[in-house]
Amino acid sequence: MPTTHTIVIGAGQAGLAMSRCLTDVGIDHVVLERGRPAERWRSQRWDSLRLLTPNWATRLPGWTYRGPQPDGYMTATELADHLAAYARSFDAPVHEGKAVRAVERAGTGLVVRTDDEAWSAENVVVATGWCDEPRVPALGVTLDARIAQVTPYSYRNPEQLPEGRVLIVGASATGVQIADELARAGREVVLAVGRHSRVPRSYRGMDIWWWLEQIGTFARTIDQVADPVRAQGEGSLQLTGRPDRRDVDLPALQALGVRLAGHLVDSDGRRMRFADDLAATTAAADTRLERILAQIDRHAAAVALDAELLPATVPAPIAPTEAIRRLDLRRQQVTTVVWATGFTRSYPWLRVPVLDARGEIAQRRGVTPERGVYVLGQRFQHRLDSNFIDGVRHDAAYVAGHIVARRRGVLPVPRPTPDQRMFDDHHPTSNLP
Ligand SMILES: Cc1cc2nc3c(=O)[nH]c(=O)nc-3n(C[C@H](O)[C@H](O)[C@H](O)COP(=O)(O)OP(=O)(O)OC[C@H]3O[C@@H](n4cnc5c(N)ncnc54)[C@H](O)[C@@H]3O)c2cc1C
Repeated sequence: MPTTHTIVIGAGQAGLAMSRCLTDVGIDHVVLERGRPAERWRSQRWDSLRLLTPNWATRLPGWTYRGPQPDGYMTATELADHLAAYARSFDAPVHEGKAVRAVERAGTGLVVRTDDEAWSAENVVVATGWCDEPRVPALGVTLDARIAQVTPYSYRNPEQLPEGRVLIVGASATGVQIADELARAGREVVLAVGRHSRVPRSYRGMDIWWWLEQIGTFARTIDQVADPVRAQGEGSLQLTGRPDRRDVDLPALQALGVRLAGHLVDSDGRRMRFADDLAATTAAADTRLERILAQIDRHAAAVALDAELLPATVPAPIAPTEAIRRLDLRRQQVTTVVWATGFTRSYPWLRVPVLDARGEIAQRRGVTPERGVYVLGQRFQHRLDSNFIDGVRHDAAYVAGHIVARRRGVLPVPRPTPDQRMFDDHHPTSNLP
């Protein structure tokens, strides 16, 4: 049986960041990946997708964006190439085409089984991704079989969908981007809107991502939120990264003719019923938006940036609208439902006692209750940006430190990072990709 000190499962940004940190501290390891490095960005993204985070916000351990457009937004393929180049830069020991089928305890160590081999190791780091499987509400199962159902992982482009109207459920980053693309392709779209967080792409002449970093948003830790479970479950920001930097928000979609509904309540398989909450949901999003912008303004004044910035303008709210309450899919010729309703995870292969009552991996800063089992890339694992490309480096460094300390027989004591002090209590608990 091949043996190594640590096995990393998954070669996305998190697994590669982990591998780089382990390389730097001289820990013998392998990365087992069921596809290729950055596989999700090659095979589970729609054709027109670009990152909603700017290129400069792809800082990985020992690797930053050095291309000509630090303020641009990479396509999925460009990011996959970027991550593949990262793997090559330190000769990451990635074993491709190795789907992990079981992680089991064996004495004081662990055994990791793929289809054709079994590895033994002291430690395992699970880096299989927070956005593992698209979440489809239970009522998707009972939907009329003649209605096509599409998820963010199966959607590619407008031409792929059958002729007819489209209902998109979910108005975070994915839902609004697909609505925009379909409406511009001449499709009639109904968008069911639930709780969401809205920000403009640029504010006072600067990218919103830059502002969010400046005001300490991403450094917020899970220990600072009142309801960690809710914070982990928040949808992504309603934000897109386009070369023209235009906002793709509800007012912009309304202008394209997209009709809005409240959140989807139930269905008999054909008739969809929506809550009467569109006005309240959008008003709440606008209130949170105004709070963030006010926080940015206070910060700009405090660091004497005001004179160099464009004047403050708050994005317009949605126009008064008659929200759709009921939609008979067959009668209204809706032929496709797009579920942009978030993501879920399952770990049937993780045969060590690390799952909590929700089926999530119980962890604190990536350290699970089971000796030698770690996780990386969870939503709000420690910082708010733990599952973003730019944020995983903090957790990867921490987990590597823990692995080294355990090998030496000394365990580290977590300390807050200095930038946590910048956190402002008015900050939203919501967000992110
Ligand atoms: C549509 C979309 C857009 C996003 N846009 C952004 C953005 O603009 N900016 C940003 O910062 N974040 C974005 N994110 C969030 C996040 O950065 C990505 O989800 C990112 O891919 C997470 O990286 P990861 O390494 O944690 O997981 P993944 O990229 O999901 O990598 C996990 C890897 O594990 C492999 N794997 C899974 N199971 C097994 C197994 N059993 N055995 C072996 N290998 C396995 C997979 O093949 C995959 O390669 C986006 C997410 C989605 C879904």
